[in-house]
Order: sequence, then C-alpha cells, then structure tokens
Amino acid sequence: MRLAGYLLLLSLLNTASASLQFHFDDQFDAEQRDQLKGWVSEVASGVEALVGEFGFDVHIHFRRARSREPVPWANTLRGRRQGIRFHVDPRHSESRFRDDWTASHELSHLVLPYVGRRDSWFAEGFASYMQYQVMHANGVLSADAAARRYNERLDNARRNYRYPRQPFLAVTGQLRRDRAYRTLYWGGAAYFIDVDRVLRAQGSSLVTVLGAYLDCCRRNTAELDSLVADLDRLSGSSVFSDTLHRYRRTPGFPPTEPVNASIVAQQDATSAHRIRIE
Ligand SMILES: [Zn+2]
Repeated sequence: MRLAGYLLLLSLLNTASASLQFHFDDQFDAEQRDQLKGWVSEVASGVEALVGEFGFDVHIHFRRARSREPVPWANTLRGRRQGIRFHVDPRHSESRFRDDWTASHELSHLVLPYVGRRDSWFAEGFASYMQYQVMHANGVLSADAAARRYNERLDNARRNYRYPRQPFLAVTGQLRRDRAYRTLYWGGAAYFIDVDRVLRAQGSSLVTVLGAYLDCCRRNTAELDSLVADLDRLSGSSVFSDTLHRYRRTPGFPPTEPVNASIVAQQDATSAHRIRIE
C-alpha cells in the first residue's frame, strides 16, 4: 500500500475508533472480537469519509446468532446513547462480513436523527441510498456494481408497487401494514437519489449537506418537516422540501430515472475530508 494511502487509512481508523464504543453482550473469543471491531471500524470510516465525523459516541453492541448470513439482524439504538445492536454469526469469514451491507446501512441511519415510525420511509430510504455509497467508499463495490444494485432495487420496488393511482407518500403506512418493506425502503431511496441529482447539478451533493448538518445541527430526534427545513437551509435551496411535495402529489411509484456509475462519485466530499483529517 502506498504511504499516502496507508496514512489515510490510519487516520480514518483513528477518527472512527475515537467515537466507537464496543459492547459484547454475549461470549465472543478475542479473535472474534478483533474481527468484529475491525469490520465495524472500517464501515464507520467509510461513512465518515463521506460525511465527516459523527461528533458523538456511537455504541456498538454485539449479540451472537446462528445463521446462514453473517448479520441476520441489526437495529439502531436511539436513546440518550446512540448506536447499533448487531446480531452476528462470527463463524462467517471476514470477507463475508465486508460484503454484507447491514453495517453500512445501520451506521448511515445515525447520520440523521430519529424521525419516528410514521416517517420511517425517510429514514429507511436514506440508509438504503447511503449503504452502497459507503460500500463504494470502502472499496467493497465498484461504481458500476453500485449503480447496478440501485437500478435492480428500484426496478423491483416499482414492479411490486400496488397503488398506481396513489402517490408514494400517501401509502407508506399501508406499505408498512402490507409488509412491503423493500418497496417502502426503495421508494424512500428514490427520494434521496432525486435530491442528490439536483444538488449535484448545483455543484453540491447530498453528502456535502449531510456533513454541514452533522457539524451544526444533529439532534437525537426531529420532526420530519423541521429536519427537511434544516437540510434545505444548509443546501441553500429548497430541494428537500420541493421533492417532498412532489412525492406527496405525484401518483404512482416515484418516476426516478435509472442511475449510472456517477451516482457514487463523491470526489469533492472525500478530498475535503482528507485535507481536514491529515
Ligand atoms: Zn434501516
């Protein structure tokens, strides 16, 4: 590894580990603990490379599971202490953990405050959009592979949307009752794809606005409308609320255009962060 790359990795790991607090709630041997810590630290570094430091301690809890997947289940912890509880099967290899999207998804959730169950489409859409950005930042997914995954997930969600006369935001409660979680998540992700497209056309990006939000305004909980107002203000535009209004009005699944590899191009945010941490 080149020296610059090594120094970057080292500083990113330091940045992340400063705010990560690990808790092993079940029995794990020393090697498993190290592997799990390394896995989450790397993912946290990817998130922070995109949006900057969390600015608060992130508590990571591990429970033991037996599963065909390395991470069968995880959820965010949104009390006074913010964090994630991972249910993991440590018998899986390091590379299977790296290829799993769960940690990228869950850690992304923590960039934004808890907006409540009624608006879970927003939180889940956000984390679903971010998960492949983070995996790309960590070198787990190429830009082309990330774009392919976005398009597959969007196509699936669009095919499974059963309310063509109703706007997506009019039926999110129904989708939850239908247990149509993938449709709910990826309809939400379409919102962030659309927002990010507009921001990039203006020379900014979603991660740039998120970085500003983490620096100034991150709370543990927020009403969706006030969060959207904050994001509008930080973006110097009304793209977050305009897109929200459009999603409330337009019937059918969000008509988001297919994405290409440029969706994960984050050079500006990454290089700004590199300058700051080195
Ligand atoms: Zn989630």
